[in-house]
Amino acid sequence: MTLFFEASTRTRSSFEMAAHALGADVLSFQKDASSVSKGESLADTVRNLEAIGADVLVVRHPCAGASRAVARVVQSTVINAGDGFHEHPTQALLDALTLRERLGSLAGKSIAIVGDIAHSRVARSNVHCLSKLGAKVRVAGPSTLMPAGIEKLGCEVARSLADALRGADAVMALRIQQERIADARIPGARDYSRVWGLTPKTLELLPPGSVVLHPGPVNRGVELSPEVLDSDRSLVMDQVDSGVAVRMAALALCLRARVSA
Ligand code: ASP
Repeated sequence: MTLFFEASTRTRSSFEMAAHALGADVLSFQKDASSVSKGESLADTVRNLEAIGADVLVVRHPCAGASRAVARVVQSTVINAGDGFHEHPTQALLDALTLRERLGSLAGKSIAIVGDIAHSRVARSNVHCLSKLGAKVRVAGPSTLMPAGIEKLGCEVARSLADALRGADAVMALRIQQERIADARIPGARDYSRVWGLTPKTLELLPPGSVVLHPGPVNRGVELSPEVLDSDRSLVMDQVDSGVAVRMAALALCLRARVSA
């Protein structure tokens, strides 16, 4: 069962596609048409879905820690499909697969992550995942969108786009997570794209052969110019494609662990 309490285009569809490909029955929980809108709690909701027969609950929720909270109250397997600004583990795995397919081993490779580092679960999961695979991860973005102490997760902090891109084998651009920001942290999209947007000109700072990623949704002309998004260097569609394979693997491994437990 997929339970998405936040919007999704790629993650939900690819989890559902992956589950179908493995021969599973898939039910898509509709938050607005459910009893959550009548005041039922998350814990009671998932206990009921488990009683209906869900072996796996794929959960996306705006609160950090929501999938862990769900896992505490059900026996079913719970997969985190994004919990607030905290983590998005299958996104990092699909990014790693996409990068390995293009660059080979990630050991010693330099990867820049640029954008709203403070509110991006993709940034956090990728810092963990890519550094575990031996890559050197560098993060950069407007100072108001950089969390204090991020380097403790095992990445470097670059102070400008030029510093972030220097020598990078790959750059991942991230969207400003407006839905998680109550106050104004940057003057506006135009100013953001002028300083941090990836354009054919800024890509000249990258070594030849280096690639561009973005987890989507892309705001064309803000994080990536249309020329960059649609260029040969862009792996954005490869990332989407990797998502199905990675989610098949995640589902199969979790279910196999359950069967053998
Ligand atoms: N789709 C990704 C996520 O759900 C990235 C984003 O929304 O900016 O975190």
